[in-house]
This record gives sequence, structure tokens and C-alpha cells, in this order.
Amino acid sequence: GSTIGILGGGQLGRMLAMSAARYGLKIHIFDPAKDAPAAEVAATHTCASYTDGNALASFAKACQVVTFEFENVPKASLEQLAGAVPLHPGLASLETSQDRLTEKQFLERLGLNVAPYAAIDGPDAIERAHTALGGDTVLKTRRLGYDGKGQTRLQTADIDAHQAWQAIGAAPAVLEARIAFVAEVSAIIARDIDGNAVAYDVPVNIHKDGILDTSSVGQFSAFNVTPDLTRQAQEAAVKVAVALEHVGVLTVEFFVTEQGTLLINEIAPRVHNSGHWTMDACLHDQFDNHIRAVAGWPLGAPERHSDAVMTNLVGPDVEELASHAARPDTQIHLYGKADVRKGRKMGHITRIAPRT
Ligand code: ATP
Ligand code: MG
Ligand code: MG
Repeated sequence: GSTIGILGGGQLGRMLAMSAARYGLKIHIFDPAKDAPAAEVAATHTCASYTDGNALASFAKACQVVTFEFENVPKASLEQLAGAVPLHPGLASLETSQDRLTEKQFLERLGLNVAPYAAIDGPDAIERAHTALGGDTVLKTRRLGYDGKGQTRLQTADIDAHQAWQAIGAAPAVLEARIAFVAEVSAIIARDIDGNAVAYDVPVNIHKDGILDTSSVGQFSAFNVTPDLTRQAQEAAVKVAVALEHVGVLTVEFFVTEQGTLLINEIAPRVHNSGHWTMDACLHDQFDNHIRAVAGWPLGAPERHSDAVMTNLVGPDVEELASHAARPDTQIHLYGKADVRKGRKMGHITRIAPRT
């Protein structure tokens, strides 16, 4: 049988492995952490780090194809793998999304709209850009940020540029205008090896403290995503995937402006937290279609049979399972993480109802 290698053994790797197992495919996880969530459900490759060249070489030998569950894999490691085994998605998807500036420039070249921004190389550049961007901005590191980490909001006219620069770790950054959005939505699409694409319905995403809290579709959404907005979001995501020659699932996060237009916040070249509801509301979920795509299978239908709201269990949320477990309309997904830490994604629940 065929073995798929996954770089990264977090919850996304775990859910990918569970889907692959259902298809009778074998998974090898590459993650230096001993207690990676995916390690409990799949074979795990021993490695010292993501840049362990010998381990990468033997990993490549064990796999027929390699994919990744997070975009911050060191580029040199991916290049080494790409020279030894088919890599899906490829280097273009990874490189473009590793750096917020590269990503925004790429999106603009495609004619897609992003929030107004400026590149920031040091603290001295912040004040003038902040003023030019309207006096309400977000400073974000170009690399390695997630769950709102590596970001700080600048609000007043009299900002402390040096403090802001230190707050994000004194690294190359982008400064973005803060968008007064009416909603956040995302497009989750999958593209196969022959270039066929399918798109999931567009969820409405609500964040709390910089971390995704809920994603909802249908009756559970407070914001109505019109068919026109759905089509625009899906088309933009497919355009991105085609330009990157992306194979697998790709996600685009958007702000819906007060004028009803879409601005891209960021892209993720992978399965995404805002697509977890597909596990309980669609015949083929995002993990299934990612595995199908990278394994060279045709894609499964993305249509949803249910309305759904996914709620993340972050930190101590996971300790109050009883009320969720008692609800017949709610499915529970736990990631097997032993340490409950503030801000850590421990699991999620999905409440569903017949599609309206
Ligand atoms: P993740 O990769 O986990 O989605 P991240 O660390 O890359 O998160 P962003 O997606 O850039 O962070 O931002 C997190 C959230 O902060 C956004 O979903 C949005 O709610 C808010 N936010 C970020 N940038 C802006 C902006 N320019 N205007 C308004 N809100 C913003
Ligand atoms: Mg991000
Ligand atoms: Mg985000």
C-alpha cells in the first residue's frame, strides 16, 4: 500500500491521519515532539528537529508522497524532501504563505484585494506608516505568527513605536490598516493533481483573543453569506490555488467590509480550523479531500448535508465536556493533548442541524 508522510504531528496531522486510515492508506508523521497529537494514531518517524537531514532522508524513503500540516516548515527541509519524493502541496504554496509580505505581494499580483499595508523593517518606519494607514493598525511579524501571536494593535495617534517593535519580537513586519469588518469568512477548497477543484460552503468565523472561537454555516451563522459572496470567495481561493499549482486543501481568510466587499486577510496552504465543521456536515470533509488530492485520487463531493457550528475548546474549556456530551446534536473531537494550557487548542465540538 501507499504511505503518505506528514510534516507536523499536531491536531491537523492527527485528523489527516485518521482520514487516511479510513481509506486504507498508511501515514508516517514527522515531528520532533515526543507527545505529538498525531503520534497516537499513526506511525511516527524519530527525528531531532525539522532540519534533521538524516531523518528527513529516511522519512522520504518511507513515503510515496509527502504533505505538511503547517506552513512554517523550514524551506531547506522542504527542498530536501522535494528532491527525493513527490511533495504536495509544493514549494510555491509553502514559500508564498510563510511570509506575510511575500503573500500580500503575490495576492496583489493576482488582482486580489488585501487590507492596506506597509512593509516595516524597523521601529523608525512604524509611525509614518501608522498615520498613512489611518491611525488604527495592526503590526504583524512577517514570519511564524499564528493564533494572533506576533501581532500588536496600534490605536492612538501617539504610539510607542519601539515598544510595538519589541512586542512582536523585533522582526521584519507588516503594518496593516485595521479593517472595520462586518464579518470574517473563509473559503476552503481542494484541488487535485489534474487541476480539478471543489469548494466547501463559506463559513462565518468569530475570533476571541486572536484565536478562532466559532465557525458556522447555515442557520448557525449570525451573518448571511449571500450566494454572490460565496462565489466570490470560492473563486478567489481557486485563483490562488491555480497560481500556486497547489495540490491539496487551501484556505483563504477574508474580511467582509462595511461595503460588502472581500479583503483577503491571509491564506493557509492546508486544512484549516475554520473547516473542521466539514467533518460533521459533509460526506467528504476537508481532511478526506486533502488526503484524496495528495494520494492522486479524485476529489469527493464537498456539499454539506447539515447546518453546523464548530466551537473550539481552548485551554480549560476542555474540562467542561459533560454538557456537550449530553447533547445529541453535538459531536466531540479531542486532540489527545495532555497539558491544558491557556490559549492551547485542546479539541472542538460541532453542533449540527438538518440543512435549512
Ligand atoms: P491564524 O493563522 O491562527 O488564523 P494569525 O496569527 O495568522 O492567525 P491573523 O489571521 O492575521 O492571525 O489575525 C487574527 C485575527 O485578528 C483575525 O482573524 C482578525 O479577527 C483580527 N485581525 C487581524 N488583522 C486584522 C486587521 N487588519 N483588521 C481587523 N482585524 C484584524
Ligand atoms: Mg495565520
Ligand atoms: Mg488567521
